[in-house]
Amino acid sequence: MRRAIFPGSFDPPTNGHLDIIERSLPLFDEIIIAILNNPDKHPLFTVEERCDMIREILPLVKNGKCEIRVDSFSGLTVDFAKKSNATAIVRGIRAVSDYEYELRMALMNRRLDPEVETGFLMADEEYSYVSSTLMKQVFMLGGRVAGLIPELVEKRMREKLSTPE
Ligand code: ADP
Repeated sequence: MRRAIFPGSFDPPTNGHLDIIERSLPLFDEIIIAILNNPDKHPLFTVEERCDMIREILPLVKNGKCEIRVDSFSGLTVDFAKKSNATAIVRGIRAVSDYEYELRMALMNRRLDPEVETGFLMADEEYSYVSSTLMKQVFMLGGRVAGLIPELVEKRMREKLSTPE
């Protein structure tokens, strides 16, 4: 049984996240999309809203026979991995700028728990500049984000920010 977690803030989930999820599915028997509960980050969406959104957009990913679960956690990622009996952490890398931070995290996590391995996947280049933060900024200023986030997520952002259509 190869089980991995894909941890992140997912505030909100983007097509970049979905792309990484889809690429990870053939590699594992089970993937747990693990939403970090970190109120210090002042997220736009609550953890419950993010969990619900991810569940609703999951049918957009092509899946063979990997089991997909959505869960939330607080605290150390490796502790959540251990508790879930996962042996791998999946992370996505966009540009070189992601690499330094991700390397630090991966090495720290390895030190904390040498039995949990971090694997990096690259999303399609069309999403290489897509981040939740950029999507929120552009959307709030009235810019077009269609094609970069799922329609449902755009709808939820509109509802949240009460922006007229
Ligand atoms: P965090 O706050 O932990 O970075 P995010 O929700 O921003 O959480 O990202 C979760 C994971 O998804 C990270 O590994 C991030 O690099 C990856 N990711 C997010 N957007 C993209 C994208 N467009 N392409 C590739 N990976 C991405």
